[in-house]
Amino acid sequence: MAKVLFINGNVHGHINPTLPVVRELVRDGEEVCYFSTMEYKQKIEAAGARLVDYGSRMYEFFKSFKPSGNHPFYTLIEFMLEMDRIAVPIVVDKTNGETYDYIIHDSMFGGGSVLSKLLNIPAICSCTSFAMNRLPLPSHMFQPGFNPQLDNIYIKLKDAAANWGVEKLDIMDIFFKKESLNIVYTSKMFHPESETFDDSFRFVGPSIAQREDKLDFRLDDVGNKPLIYISMGTIINQCMDFYQKAMEAFKNEDCMVIMSVGNKTDIGLLGEIPSNFVVRNHVPQLEVLKSADVIICHGGLNSVNEALYYGVPVISIPQVNDQYMVSRQLVKLRAGLELNMKEITDEILRNSVKTVLSDTSYKASSTEIGRSFVEAGGYKAAAKLILDFIKQYTR
Ligand code: UDP
Repeated sequence: MAKVLFINGNVHGHINPTLPVVRELVRDGEEVCYFSTMEYKQKIEAAGARLVDYGSRMYEFFKSFKPSGNHPFYTLIEFMLEMDRIAVPIVVDKTNGETYDYIIHDSMFGGGSVLSKLLNIPAICSCTSFAMNRLPLPSHMFQPGFNPQLDNIYIKLKDAAANWGVEKLDIMDIFFKKESLNIVYTSKMFHPESETFDDSFRFVGPSIAQREDKLDFRLDDVGNKPLIYISMGTIINQCMDFYQKAMEAFKNEDCMVIMSVGNKTDIGLLGEIPSNFVVRNHVPQLEVLKSADVIICHGGLNSVNEALYYGVPVISIPQVNDQYMVSRQLVKLRAGLELNMKEITDEILRNSVKTVLSDTSYKASSTEIGRSFVEAGGYKAAAKLILDFIKQYTR
């Protein structure tokens, strides 16, 4: 039995796929200590791990983080670097006096790669978004002097390297914390340029297992009508205007719509909910997807993975970060459509759903990608890769 340190952030999309893997490792006898925040305590403990809360400094950071500029990519890097700088000493402090055998860390959050060096134990990278083997912007955008926010990041990188006792830190060390084993939760078929990744990247497909959350409405009532599922994910989902357009688009259509609006949206402010809509702050997404005919979402990789796993075509409205890459991939493989949030009208939404439902090629492509997901092995394959990899250090 080995003791495992799992280092992660505090977002559903980065935690959900890891939970079935944790459950599998625990079943195999591993003891898992999982760093995240209290919001995820129940989920993490249900998977058999012990939650260690980062604590008040991290909560303060989440509330008060202000980037030094407004470029979206530099802001993401600044956030990740600042979070790493807070997480690393907390983990060192909270694990003081205990011995761990290996680390599994998120590819973005929590400074796991640095911790691997500081604690001198091997590490495995858990990648819930698309994997990265290069920065996603042209090289001139990383030249010192190109942008004040970038220069600020270089100063912080130097400072962090000195604090952690490492010779040098690059933006790539923060952006994608590559290890000798990198578990990627999608299939080679769906991942862009998967042939350019070396053998340390293992594409295991979505990590999908039964979840604890249950439906509080009946799906049987749908009958033969199309079921449309709408969710803009769990982070940037306060889009009242969009939700209202969706209600306008489908209120007179012979279909049922389930709309998840996120925990921060006040459903009472949406106005009259049409009788063919079920609107909730959070829904058991996997249960809904099993019966859905189409999903309209933000292009979050987890939601898209989960939809395609069940052969559900996707209408994607990307908002930030890798959601644009995911959407491009959906369009390229003809598993869905991409819409622009700024241009959306109720008519565009209605026509997009009609297109996806009437042209069977969308369903066929989604089903084929879903098959590649199942074949990739999911969480069981991930756990086996981890246990096999770690044998070389424990022999
Ligand atoms: N999710 C859910 N119910 C909801 C909305 C989201 O269970 O009502 C889950 C969904 O199944 C997925 C995750 O939250 O696993 C969202 O991850 P994604 O990468 O799609 O988006 P993010 O929230 O990170 O933007």
